[in-house]
Amino acid sequence: MCGIVWSVTNWVIDLDGVMWRGPEPVDGSVESVGELLSAGDRVLFCTNNSVASGQERAVQLADRGVPAGADVVTSADAVCTLLTPGERVLVLGSRGLVDVLRSDGAEAVSTMDRPSSAGFGAVVVGLTRDFDYHQIDLAMAAVRSGARLLGTNADATFPGSDGIHVGTGALLAAVETATGTEATVAGKPNEPIAALIRKHFEGALGETVVVGDRPGTDGRLAQRLGVPFLLVLSGVTGPEDPTTEVPTAEVAADLATLVRSGAGERHR
Ligand SMILES: [Mg+2]
Repeated sequence: MCGIVWSVTNWVIDLDGVMWRGPEPVDGSVESVGELLSAGDRVLFCTNNSVASGQERAVQLADRGVPAGADVVTSADAVCTLLTPGERVLVLGSRGLVDVLRSDGAEAVSTMDRPSSAGFGAVVVGLTRDFDYHQIDLAMAAVRSGARLLGTNADATFPGSDGIHVGTGALLAAVETATGTEATVAGKPNEPIAALIRKHFEGALGETVVVGDRPGTDGRLAQRLGVPFLLVLSGVTGPEDPTTEVPTAEVAADLATLVRSGAGERHR
């Protein structure tokens, strides 16, 4: 006799370019997540956006209609794992990132507040539009005084509703170039955020897929986790872009198309 095998899929789903483009929802994505959750699948959103913690993003997702039950991990959560408790940290990034680091116990100071560059254990670079030459100068001086250089992520760009914008990686590269130092990067596709994902699924990644719009981050994350990468074309990667950069199990127009076509069942 053959028993019925009940099986669920763990979905690791990127936010920008999969669920939204800037403030605009990608058609059908929110509803698809609802379908996955009601089918008993587990959903973990995973974003390199560093302006909020996963817990804060989960509240924002609920406000945007995403049904309860999905968790979120961000590159801000991941960079916290690279700090020692109470460490003094200089942040070239958003006020939101400063708040996340402080909630995690770091003594975080923003470059926007023009502190002296002395006495920092680490410099953390994250996404911000509010920076100037002096703030980059401060970050450089702190690293030259011995602080470790950490990046929330190294994405060159990110997708908005009105096109592609300059990402954290470009700002991080400025500090790396000025200091001659290579940063340790916490977000996708690097180990700190991968470790948080493994921990979330208690190490049971056998039936997990990663869905994202960027092979260089989402695809390489899937590779690091040893699970299939499902590429969607609703973000920075267009239908004409080469998709051979990393192993790609499937390519679809968007999350709704993937879910409707039974991608979860195909990768169990
Ligand atoms: Mg994305």
